Amino acid sequence: MATKLPKVPIVIVGMGWVGGIIAAELTKAGHSVVGLERGKSRNTQDYYHVHDELRYASRYELMQDLSKETVTFRNTSKLRALPMRSYGSFLLGDGLGGAGVHWNGQYYRFLPYDFEIRSKTIERYGAKKIPEGMAIRDWGIKYDELEPYYVKYEQMAGIGGEPTTPANVGAMSKAFPVGPMKKTPAMKLFEDSASKLGYHPYVIPSANLTEVYKNPDGIERAPCQYCGYCERFGCEYGAKADPVVTVLPVAQKSGKLDLRTHANVTEILHDGKKATGVRYVNTPTGEEYIQPADIVIMSSYLFSNVRLLLLSKLGTPYDPVTDTGSVGRNYAYQVNGASTSVMYEDREFNLAMGAGALGSSIDDFNGDNFDHSDLKFLHGANIRFTQTGMRPIQYQPAPTGTPKWGATFKKETLHYANRILTVAAQGSSMPWRHHYLDLDPEYKDALGLPLIRLTFDFEDQDRELVKYIAGKTKEIADGMGGTKTEIHDSIKQYNIVPYQSTHNTGGTIMGSDPKTSVVNNYLQMWDAENVFICGASAFSHNSGFNPTATVGALAYRAAEGIAKYIAKPGSLV
Ligand SMILES: Cc1cc2nc3c(=O)[nH]c(=O)nc-3n(C[C@H](O)[C@H](O)[C@H](O)COP(=O)(O)OP(=O)(O)OC[C@H]3O[C@@H](n4cnc5c(N)ncnc54)[C@H](O)[C@@H]3O)c2cc1C
Ligand code: SF4
Repeated sequence: MATKLPKVPIVIVGMGWVGGIIAAELTKAGHSVVGLERGKSRNTQDYYHVHDELRYASRYELMQDLSKETVTFRNTSKLRALPMRSYGSFLLGDGLGGAGVHWNGQYYRFLPYDFEIRSKTIERYGAKKIPEGMAIRDWGIKYDELEPYYVKYEQMAGIGGEPTTPANVGAMSKAFPVGPMKKTPAMKLFEDSASKLGYHPYVIPSANLTEVYKNPDGIERAPCQYCGYCERFGCEYGAKADPVVTVLPVAQKSGKLDLRTHANVTEILHDGKKATGVRYVNTPTGEEYIQPADIVIMSSYLFSNVRLLLLSKLGTPYDPVTDTGSVGRNYAYQVNGASTSVMYEDREFNLAMGAGALGSSIDDFNGDNFDHSDLKFLHGANIRFTQTGMRPIQYQPAPTGTPKWGATFKKETLHYANRILTVAAQGSSMPWRHHYLDLDPEYKDALGLPLIRLTFDFEDQDRELVKYIAGKTKEIADGMGGTKTEIHDSIKQYNIVPYQSTHNTGGTIMGSDPKTSVVNNYLQMWDAENVFICGASAFSHNSGFNPTATVGALAYRAAEGIAKYIAKPGSLV
């Protein structure tokens, strides 16, 4: 029997970047908030001995425990889905700060084109350019409307970047608060080659802090040491902006945040029109609690956001056959796979020095920054060279054809450790009618509740994109002065086993039509006005960029919407 707790004004489910930002904004405004996080508490001191690749990068210390809850996957709806039993394609966050603790910190605003993708595509190429089944749509918000919220995130996190950005990305009303990361010799080679080709390289904007910085909330942090143990690790210097060192201390200091870790939410309680609270299980004891609340904020990442709505029977589940309903619609991923490696027999680089967001990139072939008239794909990719460190277990560069073990493997990987640079692309991912999330009819979590099921595959659009963009990576790589280049220009079926990217999007998308979207542009649920569903689940497609800048900007906007709703409840913001 669940223990019923006293009613609270606001409950937040999931305390990563999104939960942390919203908690900070609401508590600063004087509102009391309960934050429920299924994982454990953490802080910077936990990472003083963090350079343990086996523990963090290979055994996924900071990620969700897949033996308790996972995702099932299939390529098409004709197949039976199977559970992801060990980590592969993406790594799910768990614990205070969520995936924001072990992210890289590469910070990119989406392009203005992204928010109006459908109308801009039709305007330039005609409606026939959009293939049957491709579910792109305008987001219901424009870049200029979201721009002030990007600024808020940048000031809070201390994003470092060049004073001006190229004309082919969104205009910025305020410069980044600190300067860019250092430019390594390898980054310079990439930038010089790209510039000679007429492209517009720039140092990747970074949430790895580049100098001592005090943010508008008074939080002061130390700069990055380029330690190279960043992606998949917490930062022992507090230099990587994460929720635990930025927004959560602000909420905690206000005295208005009641933070409960090990609190696994299993249901959003509602009366059909409005949420009345949530049900959660204290994971160490197994005790169940009901937390009544006036407002429920879902910030539990897209798989949990969608799953909890479906488990709670809140909103209309998406049906891919009839193309009706909204919860679970428009899942998209990221299309990596286009790259060219450059080998240097006559020179070595110091690739052990690195940081999660260290690198340079171009957007000349991203979004609609180039003519797609004769191309069989839409959108494009951010092309980049990154230098994220050289950790001994997982970093084993060698030319294709090198054996995967034995004496030759050892010899070649030692020889090439500091001699291979890779120009890679991060491709956009379009939503399709037949890519979606629903509840698995067969597999359940440790509590006996159905798992979320993912139905997804790469399409011809993705294969064409990879082929074309790979050609561009080769052009740049050829100009980088190596002795040999090796192009990778094809992808096959999507396979959940190898790691690719934790940039999943969609499932509770925003829009202007309540029939085909779940939330409005304040991320307020159409079907339950006191529920706000936040995070990348609101994206209706994925850009050729990392998502967290837009996740953060939307969280700031949602916080504003929630404050408006508190001031004037009883309607949509
Ligand atoms: C290795 C890696 C590198 C990345 N690098 C970059 C990068 O360079 N740039 C970039 O833009 N993005 C990057 N990302 C993505 C970035 O980490 C995410 O976009 C961001 O952290 C999402 O924040 P969130 O708050 O929406 O979700 P999360 O960080 O996933 O937080 C959700 C929280 O909700 C909790 N939760 C889930 N279900 C429940 C439940 N039922 N009850 C209670 N709590 C629950 C989880 O435990 C988690 O703490 C990276 C991700 C990974 C894994
Ligand atoms: S690379 Fe920089 S930001 Fe990343 S963990 Fe190391 S010191 Fe921290």
